[in-house]
Amino acid sequence: MADYAGRLPTPTPESQPYWDGLKEHKLMLPTCDPCGPFFYPRPFCPEPGCFSWDIDWTEASGKGKVHTFVISHQPIPPYNTEDNPPPYVIAVIELEEGPRMMSNLIIDDPYATEVDMDVEIVYDDVTDDVTLPKFKPV
Ligand SMILES: [Zn+2]
Repeated sequence: MADYAGRLPTPTPESQPYWDGLKEHKLMLPTCDPCGPFFYPRPFCPEPGCFSWDIDWTEASGKGKVHTFVISHQPIPPYNTEDNPPPYVIAVIELEEGPRMMSNLIIDDPYATEVDMDVEIVYDDVTDDVTLPKFKPV
């Protein structure tokens, strides 16, 4: 883990609970009552007509579907291409709870990826402090 060569996130006050959750292998989503969970983390509800600043955090199931995807053939510098050789899948995952998030799909054959494919989260502990959310087919 110590030799992870990829990019790492810089948590903000708004996203810190999200990153703390991932470290504990929980997918935490900012949630507005009554609008529900949303993504990405921000200090207020993004629903037009609401914009409430009363935000709680709820744990998501980690299950979802591929909403859309692209198969990239470009390594992303700095990127550990020995561990993560192209081609790889960049996907927008529609979570069971509704919000969509961009991630990587971990799949043996990237060309087997399909829209609406059922997926679940994989917690990738890339350093002692950072866990990245990725997804795999179920
Ligand atoms: Zn709201």
